[in-house]
Amino acid sequence: MTSQRTRERLAKRLQDNGIEDAQVLDVIRKTPRHIFVDEALASRAYEDTALPIGHGQTISQPYIVARMTEALLADGPRKKVLEIGTGSGYQTAVLAQLIDQVFSVERIQALQTKARARLREMRLSNVKYKYDDGTLGWPEHASYDGIIVTAAPKSIPDQLLMQLAIGGRMLIPAGDDGGQVLRLITRDNKGYEEKILDGVQFVPLLDGVN
Ligand code: SAH
Repeated sequence: MTSQRTRERLAKRLQDNGIEDAQVLDVIRKTPRHIFVDEALASRAYEDTALPIGHGQTISQPYIVARMTEALLADGPRKKVLEIGTGSGYQTAVLAQLIDQVFSVERIQALQTKARARLREMRLSNVKYKYDDGTLGWPEHASYDGIIVTAAPKSIPDQLLMQLAIGGRMLIPAGDDGGQVLRLITRDNKGYEEKILDGVQFVPLLDGVN
């Protein structure tokens, strides 16, 4: 049910669906997704779907996690990444295995506490957590050469754009419930560029803390 074979099958499926980065596929293969959901859902942890994690939130679909991570790393390795929406911590765990330093912000404290314990269990110690409204980013540690946002704002928060380093890449879903799209924002010394990747469905990015 949670065996290596099941994980292998998930990685294969993501590959069939277009994920090419071998490093990303390898990390998906190694990450025990079943510890990121409640025990009652553990048998479904290696299906390629989002699943409920309580508080009206979901663990992201593995394909989306892989797609965003692959797009983040497409132009070379990233050293310092800001993640908005820790949730279950699954995307955080994937990032922590590929990036030197991860900074993760979550507005529901109970989710963050559980996520932190799971990453500790996996001995991933290169992650710093903050309980706050991620719309504001985490200015104390800025700038970031990567930013991943795992909940959808209606439009891209200025604070996040400001905290993206020159040469940095940001993956962010944006739009309202009817039509969200995943965007890749890159920044160079002249300004920002935006590329639209896929149509997606994320929970909304909410203001303030819970
Ligand atoms: N990557 C996570 C996805 C969780 S769903 C996973 O795979 O488990 C999105 C998360 O974003 C939720 O936990 C939600 O509480 C959080 N979120 C929504 N708005 C936020 C905000 N303004 N700041 C920080 N986190 C936010």
